[in-house]
Amino acid sequence: MIDINKNYWLYVLPHVYCCIKEAKALLYNTLNGSSYVTHDSLLVDLIKSLQKKSNLGTISCQGRELANSPYKEFIIEFCGKEMGELIETQFTEKPVQMMPVLNLQQDIKKLLQAGDRTIGEEVLPYLQELNIYINNSCKLECHYCDKYFRQCLCCTTQETVEQVAMPYSLLKTILSQIRYGAVGKLNLMGGNVFEYPYYMALPDILSGFGEYVHLWNHYRHFMIDSIVFPTFVYHVVVTFPIIKVAWENCLHICRTHQAKFHFYVTGIEECEEVEKIVELYNIDDFVIHPIYTCKNLLFFKKYIYLNENDILQTKIPFRQIFIHQKMNSYSFGIFTIMPDGNVYANINAVSLGNIHRDSLLQLIYKEMLTNTAWFKIRDSEPCSDCLFQYLCPSPSNYEAIIGISNLCHVAR
Ligand code: SF4
Ligand code: SF4
Repeated sequence: MIDINKNYWLYVLPHVYCCIKEAKALLYNTLNGSSYVTHDSLLVDLIKSLQKKSNLGTISCQGRELANSPYKEFIIEFCGKEMGELIETQFTEKPVQMMPVLNLQQDIKKLLQAGDRTIGEEVLPYLQELNIYINNSCKLECHYCDKYFRQCLCCTTQETVEQVAMPYSLLKTILSQIRYGAVGKLNLMGGNVFEYPYYMALPDILSGFGEYVHLWNHYRHFMIDSIVFPTFVYHVVVTFPIIKVAWENCLHICRTHQAKFHFYVTGIEECEEVEKIVELYNIDDFVIHPIYTCKNLLFFKKYIYLNENDILQTKIPFRQIFIHQKMNSYSFGIFTIMPDGNVYANINAVSLGNIHRDSLLQLIYKEMLTNTAWFKIRDSEPCSDCLFQYLCPSPSNYEAIIGISNLCHVAR
């Protein structure tokens, strides 16, 4: 109950993220996922004052003012959603709130100032995942072989025109460069990795990387006589239509190994088929990857595009919001090396260089400075004008392939 004869401190709690764009404001409680959006200019001004650096998250208000609309209703919702509190000034000094600020240990500016001497000392830990296409030979002719790998991790024969198998010596050189780094996931794929001329030597060359090694191959490549190493995790690529005999063969082989299944779907019928398959064959470890084919935009609009509810019903920690403000959470820390040695920070970006002549350290450094992919954030229209700019996931490959910067129904 607000007393019109009293003065109050109104303060916002440090776990509340605030975004103000022109005449609208969003408050988002990163602990319980509740949100508050207003277009009322009086409330937008009030929230602006709360956010003003010099106010340290607290402003003094007169009860006379707060007892009226729209403040009265705002205070009820604001306090009810545990975004902040109201206390009488007579009982306490101004409560100072330490508002969180972006403070990443290694800022790019610092890196720029440090210059070349940082190579090797500072940048290697940034590389956390490495995708290596060890060959591009494959006799299958999946309809969307040129599309899958551009949207999510998958095998392909497409990127390099000639038939290429990565030389054993080059693979060895790459591995020697990451042996003492922070790479926690090493994906090896083709083509058909079983046809890689040095496939049998992989356990040897990869000893020491243990459970970090993930081998990707299409289910139709798993034959009765395929050699599957128990030390690696196998990722099984499943495209449609599914050929039952080959599929059951693959399952038979994978049952006794660590395997994860990846279904690449282009429409709702295929999603339904996946549902039936995973139930019928009792598959627990699987992922469904929607694939844009240039002809199924309606499928994407209906099932993939986000709306306001999708965004706000997920609990998003502050750390995640900070990441969205600073880096691309899909691409950051990942390099892809094609069988011809070309290296990408994202497969849809320009090549950073070639591993035949550039070291991974040089290429990490180059990416930190030139940003072909790792720091692509939602900083262009319409996202830059949207209240959900940094609540939304980072721009993904889908945006790049579909050719628009927002896959949502919020802004058109
Ligand atoms: S199995 Fe993979 S590499 Fe082979 S055609 Fe299909 S998508 Fe392309
Ligand atoms: S416009 Fe951009 S930031 Fe806003 S909801 Fe859509 S994708 Fe997210």
